Amino acid sequence: MATSRESRARLERAKARLDRLDAYPRPVRLDGVRVLTVPWLFWLPYLRRFQGYALWKTILLRRPLAETSDDLLTHELCHVWQAQHRRWHQLWAWATTTYERNPYEVEARRAVAATRN
Ligand SMILES: [Zn+2]
Repeated sequence: MATSRESRARLERAKARLDRLDAYPRPVRLDGVRVLTVPWLFWLPYLRRFQGYALWKTILLRRPLAETSDDLLTHELCHVWQAQHRRWHQLWAWATTTYERNPYEVEARRAVAATRN
């Protein structure tokens, strides 16, 4: 399990990428954001195809942080950022659209692509 210092450094790096974008009025806040590696959670049918999942302030990872790419972390942190601004609409979109067409998924994928060096 990553130390909080490691995850903080990785989150700062992902935040620096998102800070270059202006999707929301305020930059993503890292206070209270946790990163947990929980491989067993991804055995669940609904989560099986994912490598990560963001639940408001918690980023859940299939693999240890050291084996997790900056792209994945940036994608998941983008969901945290979305939740900080549009939590209920984000949940609504999750419940009413498919993964591929979900506007928050599209936005997170674009955020990663736009900030990849
Ligand atoms: Zn996503």
